[in-house]
Amino acid sequence: MAVQTVESTTNPTVDLGPAAALSCRECGHRVPLGPVFACEECFGPLEIAYDFSAYETEELRKKIESGPANIWRYAPLLPVPADVADKPNINPGWTKLVKADNLARELGVTGGLYVKDDSGNPTHSFKDRVVAQAIEAARAFGFTTLSCSSTGNLAGAVGAAAARAGFRSCVFIPHDLEQGKVVMAAIYGGDLVGIEGNYDDVNRFCSELIGDPAGEGWGFVNVNLRPYYAEGSKTLAYEICEQLGWRLPDQIVVPIASGSQLTKIDKGLKELIQLGLVEDKPYKIFGAQAEGCSPVSVAFKEGHDVVRPQKPDTIAKSLAIGNPADGPYVLDIARRTAGAVEDVTDDQIVDAIKLLARTEGIFAETAGGVTVGVTRKLIENGVLDPTKTTVVLNTGDGLKTLDAVAGTGLTATIRPNLDSFREAGLA
Ligand SMILES: *Cc1c(COP(=O)(O)O)cnc(C)c1O
Repeated sequence: MAVQTVESTTNPTVDLGPAAALSCRECGHRVPLGPVFACEECFGPLEIAYDFSAYETEELRKKIESGPANIWRYAPLLPVPADVADKPNINPGWTKLVKADNLARELGVTGGLYVKDDSGNPTHSFKDRVVAQAIEAARAFGFTTLSCSSTGNLAGAVGAAAARAGFRSCVFIPHDLEQGKVVMAAIYGGDLVGIEGNYDDVNRFCSELIGDPAGEGWGFVNVNLRPYYAEGSKTLAYEICEQLGWRLPDQIVVPIASGSQLTKIDKGLKELIQLGLVEDKPYKIFGAQAEGCSPVSVAFKEGHDVVRPQKPDTIAKSLAIGNPADGPYVLDIARRTAGAVEDVTDDQIVDAIKLLARTEGIFAETAGGVTVGVTRKLIENGVLDPTKTTVVLNTGDGLKTLDAVAGTGLTATIRPNLDSFREAGLA
């Protein structure tokens, strides 16, 4: 993968809020903010380092609470230009934290069970959060074309965000995704390219494109803009805590595709503690995968530090990344917080989608079936403590993965008269 070089000083015309530098997650080497993603010393992944030293806790809390009902209420904690609110952005976030009492009863949870329902975002998945960040970084760095490799939801989020912000978009997906995801990605008018291969092939292709003149000047939200993109996931942690009344949950169940979201939820929680916005106490992070794509779960259970790639085969296509970039970091976090990583079968995913719909009126995509199914399994196995406050993420909308619940339909078909209705036995 090509490593781009950067100027030795930050471009003074680029205002990236409290973001101070890019820092290597492996060796700690720091470089100025720019559209780079790999360390020039060790090729490790770069992430945003902040300077929050000027913040006073109560002032910051007030500023956040009086902010807009979207992710930009947390602008002081994000690497975006300060005047972002004036720019056309799809403004995702501030989705519902649903107190799931019916589901809690079914699962035997007594400590409070919540579903963070990110299907409420503009393109119906959590991906709007990360794209909203990446597009502001793209704007700051002067890109005019936005691109990505996607398992489906990201393609739609990039298409919508680019349309609204006036960027060209050209995104890449595996050619055999769900119809709902394909239409959702194409409808915004950008270019959508199906690649004959799985997500890992698509991702490899994009890495090649980025080093080629054909991709020059393109902002790949999850490659050369990845450090900025990834920070969008922190807003899930911020919202959950603020919606709980500025309190850390005891346990969070998070789906894993590349693992980025899980690592940034942990980063977000740690920042809230560091800033004094929540009281410090231990929390556990649990990762959820489908059995048909469970490289991180397998490594966790076998006690390995290395994640061995798999060839995905599951209905949870949005999570079907066989070689997850953040896998090793997910293992660290699950172990450090005394959480776990677990997986469920496709049948268990479908059961869990139906369970959540029947108990809480939330129609989740397959990724939500994975988190709810894993939550159930972890409780049954005595790994997740039902007496503790638990938050389960639903990251996408069931309308995009209708095939997964095919066969769900009419209870009866009748003639339009009362006799026929009585015969159906529904009275
Ligand atoms: C992309 C995605 C995730 C998680 O992605 P990471 O790569 O692990 O950050 C979770 N749920 C859905 C529905 C997604 O589309």
